[in-house]
Amino acid sequence: MPATDMDQVVTLCKNRGFIYQSAEIYGGFRSTYDYGPLGVQLLRNVKDAWWRSMVQLRDDVVGLDAAILGPPAVWKASGHLDTFTDPLVDCRSCKERWRADHLPEPDPKDAKVHCPNCGSTDLTDARAFNLMFKTHAGPVEDDSTVAYLRPETAQGMFINFKNVIQTTRKKPPFGIAQVGKSFRNEITPGNFVFRTREFEQMELEFFVPPPDSKQWFEYWVAERFAWYVGLGIPEAMLRIRPHEQEELSHYSAGTSDVEFMFPWGWGELEGIAQRTDFDLTAHAKASGESLDWFDQASGERYVPYVVEPAAGATRSMMAFIIAALDTDEVGGEQRTVLRIHPRLAPYKAAVLPLSKKDTLTPTAREVLGLLQPHVMCDYDETQSIGRRYRRQDEIGTPWCVTVDFETLEDRAVTVRDRDATTQVRVPIDGLVAHIMGNLAAY
Ligand code: ATP
Repeated sequence: MPATDMDQVVTLCKNRGFIYQSAEIYGGFRSTYDYGPLGVQLLRNVKDAWWRSMVQLRDDVVGLDAAILGPPAVWKASGHLDTFTDPLVDCRSCKERWRADHLPEPDPKDAKVHCPNCGSTDLTDARAFNLMFKTHAGPVEDDSTVAYLRPETAQGMFINFKNVIQTTRKKPPFGIAQVGKSFRNEITPGNFVFRTREFEQMELEFFVPPPDSKQWFEYWVAERFAWYVGLGIPEAMLRIRPHEQEELSHYSAGTSDVEFMFPWGWGELEGIAQRTDFDLTAHAKASGESLDWFDQASGERYVPYVVEPAAGATRSMMAFIIAALDTDEVGGEQRTVLRIHPRLAPYKAAVLPLSKKDTLTPTAREVLGLLQPHVMCDYDETQSIGRRYRRQDEIGTPWCVTVDFETLEDRAVTVRDRDATTQVRVPIDGLVAHIMGNLAAY
């Protein structure tokens, strides 16, 4: 049973070192989070799994890591300076700010919209609030030094389109992938790391001949849905939701979201958008550089259309935790177990000497040393073996490797499976192959 209680998720994340409130010792910084020893590992594994599927296993996608700071010209051309806004409403009574589209419907009793916080009807008219963080590059704070923190990674791919085709000899259909931080001055952040002001995205811009755009769009919607399922999210917790016309972003001719059943209801994990030639055309016009594609074979020249699967790394990391968090009974005792896909698990193995006795330590350390070059491992020699198994279950470690007194005789260890709790005896010499074989089976 996946988690249905967000408090349980938030508590696990904090107590086990996945996610901490940022600047907690100063009372916390609103809706900003730090990823702890396990969180950094899980987040990295989510991003690596995405990169593996989107770049490594394909020959039609290349990677990019573009700058976070950008000049206004980029954001003017992309439309973000003018249209990347949310309608903002202030409550004059309690001073809370709301997204107009998140306010409740008018109350039938008085036909007025009420502030969800204090109930007042004294609300301002909606005004456009730009979500981009503005700063200054250099010591002078005037109009000539204005810079923006990117609100999406996508523009990095568009402004490097020419560089990439010139240096890689890729031709449509092909894609540029990027993983990195984005920043949005969200009016209503919340639901833990679902909506934060600083977050990580995993985005692909896939450039295609315009007539093939719809077909590629359908391809990517199916691919991306399958990615989450392949990493262990039950299909019943996922759905595809096509956007209504009025929801579409300023650049989109059609978008479908992959949504996840969060404890509070369906929420977006990823949007797959048909960005047409909007961005390349806009940047070509504004920069004076031609950003079209010339097909030498056919002599044809065109501006490629773009299909964009845009996912949130931090948001989907939380979804993976929610889907995996489970409780069951082992040996008459309740246990909490994070049944996270082994590819995503922060530690793949934990090496546990049965006792802290000096006699076991050298062999346990030897086993740890054998595994460490291949996979992330934990090493734990405190408390009873049962307690240590529970600790590893709770953080999702798929395999516990126990070194016991027999190990000194037979040079074999016990490998315990997190989900089935079954145990097998494996020779130390074959341990790396055993763990790697287990991992590859997923
Ligand atoms: P939303 O409708 O939830 O604001 P969006 O449609 O604006 O999201 P996109 O611009 O499509 O989001 O960004 C792609 C992905 O980036 C989203 O599906 C989400 O996973 C992630 N994302 C966007 N904004 C945030 C945020 N403030 N905090 C965490 N993740 C985010």
